[in-house]
Amino acid sequence: MLQILCPNDFAQSIFDIDLDGLRKLGISGMILDLDNTLMAWDRDEVPAKAVKWVNTAKEKGFSLCIASNATGSRVAHISETLGIPAISKAVKPRKKPFRKALEILKLPPEQVAVVGDQVFTDVLGGNRMQLYTILINPVSRKELRTTRMVRRVERRVIQRLHRKGYLSDRAFRLRLGEPCADGPSSGKQGRY
Ligand SMILES: [Mg+2]
Repeated sequence: MLQILCPNDFAQSIFDIDLDGLRKLGISGMILDLDNTLMAWDRDEVPAKAVKWVNTAKEKGFSLCIASNATGSRVAHISETLGIPAISKAVKPRKKPFRKALEILKLPPEQVAVVGDQVFTDVLGGNRMQLYTILINPVSRKELRTTRMVRRVERRVIQRLHRKGYLSDRAFRLRLGEPCADGPSSGKQGRY
């Protein structure tokens, strides 16, 4: 049961994801979370560094799709800025938005990774669909009050995953022990 909450991989930020390594694993599509993954939750524009990362991923042959629980107009604006399709009001971890993303990407689950900052939405949803899940540290500490409450439970889950040996020492340390080194936002960064 606990394993469904365990990511396949962990990176401090999107910039630390080994894109070439993913390609070697046969992954050619990524479903990207938006808030606190590509950009800070309280921003309206994607930072230039994140735009560059998206373009690099495209150049390396990845098909991309955003799946966000955020509302339509903001997600649509970012989708247009980045030139990638997006699903808003996704209600992750429900399977439906991930199925829709796979349809958009025209790829089977085994060729798609989910990248996100939350265990109970991104990792759980991706694992339920047998996608390759990559957990990253949130870009900003600023979050919705409900998310902050969920983080407390998430922290306990991460501790248990580590104790049971599902999560590496390195991932555990980077997630709970050190601030995010260089997130896409220049705002407050780090651990929660
Ligand atoms: Mg997020």
